[in-house]
Amino acid sequence: MKISVSVGEFPLNVSLNKVLFRASDIVDGVELFWGLRPVFFKGVYKLLKENKLRVLSIHQPVWSMFGLFKDESFYQKAQKFNAQIVLHPPLNAELNSNKAKDYFTYHSRMSKKYKVQVSVENMPKTVRVAGKLIHYHKQFQDPVVLVDKVCSKYEFGLVLDTTHLRLAGRLGRLNESIIMPFLTNIHLSDFRGKKDHLALGKGDLDLKEFTEMLRDNNYHGLVTLELSAHFFYFGDYAGDIRDSVLQVRKLLKR
Ligand SMILES: [Zn+2]
Repeated sequence: MKISVSVGEFPLNVSLNKVLFRASDIVDGVELFWGLRPVFFKGVYKLLKENKLRVLSIHQPVWSMFGLFKDESFYQKAQKFNAQIVLHPPLNAELNSNKAKDYFTYHSRMSKKYKVQVSVENMPKTVRVAGKLIHYHKQFQDPVVLVDKVCSKYEFGLVLDTTHLRLAGRLGRLNESIIMPFLTNIHLSDFRGKKDHLALGKGDLDLKEFTEMLRDNNYHGLVTLELSAHFFYFGDYAGDIRDSVLQVRKLLKR
């Protein structure tokens, strides 16, 4: 199991340098997520090198998520770093639509072309982008359906996001037997009410039970701390990441 932390252009009021510096001795690498400025990458490589951190996964950039244009450059980056790719299901489309089929077929082709692992993430019901609500079909909210209808068909892995699923502990024995063999990455964060992607221990997630499930199933993939995908973070972001990673490490060691 590798412990990773999601880093990107958000939150805007946080110093990436400080986050990486404080996490560098306790994480194995990072997941990169960007979307506003392609130049983001230039600065981040330097910081990763200085902090001796590897890129373990690359989140599909925002313009690809919204289908604005087809972009192969993040596949090239993933190949270069030997990193896996995190893919969101298509917006405002249902599983059996041509839009969804075309979308998954394209990414399956890219995955083979660049020889990189692509994993699909379970989504919440809606996300708000620039004041607009965007919907994910019910099928894309359920990791069991994703495994059954998408991952096994297109040879994708699964990214399990605890906040999106509102997962408070274990998945349940039946679901574990279906989901765990496909699981390559966990987007780990806490949640409470409408608040999501919180630091661990600040919400309803029973981390002890969750990490027990990982150990019982001999999980070998990534555990990626994903706190706050929001524009601003009110609090000590670097400190909350460090504290969350240490909680996970302690529980996994037992
Ligand atoms: Zn996520």
